[in-house]
Amino acid sequence: MNINSAKFTISNTDVNKCPQEPRHEYAFIGRSNVGKSSLINMLTSHKKLAMTSATPGKTTLINHFLINDQWYIVDLPGYGYAQRGKQMQKQIRDIIESYILNRWQMTNLFLLIDCRLAPQKIDLEFMNWLGENEIPFSIVFTKLDKLSAAAGKKQIEKYMAILQESWEELPPVFRTSSADGRGRAELLDYIEELN
Ligand code: GDP
Repeated sequence: MNINSAKFTISNTDVNKCPQEPRHEYAFIGRSNVGKSSLINMLTSHKKLAMTSATPGKTTLINHFLINDQWYIVDLPGYGYAQRGKQMQKQIRDIIESYILNRWQMTNLFLLIDCRLAPQKIDLEFMNWLGENEIPFSIVFTKLDKLSAAAGKKQIEKYMAILQESWEELPPVFRTSSADGRGRAELLDYIEELN
């Protein structure tokens, strides 16, 4: 699929204020600094559509971007940024959960994981919560350019083997790098299939 246009539509903290049209939505989520904004910019071929930052934990909003005047990319707040403090983290968690549980337009959730890290408790718990609530999701490994091809392969195999211990069926997996564009075509083709 080609992306011909990508337009910022609205930012908010309240799922009830999200756009009301019946358009497919693809939401992106992950721990702060996982590379979510960079991935959204890479997918849409825009340098600054989503706000990237070297400082983690900046975006605390639900951001809607209208793609090809047809469907939405939704940038959800990053989670697990301890320096935000407990109360703020709880607020963000509430925003994320109310979006995911109430947004019938959400066709798929892409959960981003930094390919260099061993499975983190917070991500595994979040995946379990998605499973319990029957939320359709895929795993998107980010920053593949930071590992050699062999190390990246091994790391992802190890990650999936750990998931397999508790999941009967594994979610679809994508391997990406915003630095070299890896995985872009695969993700966009997958979205096109679901659209
Ligand atoms: P977010 O907090 O999840 O939105 O993360 P950002 O997209 O702002 O990225 C966090 C940091 O990781 C920034 O310094 C990015 O330049 C860097 N980064 C993000 N994606 C990649 C990638 O695919 N490869 C490399 N090498 N760096 C990346």
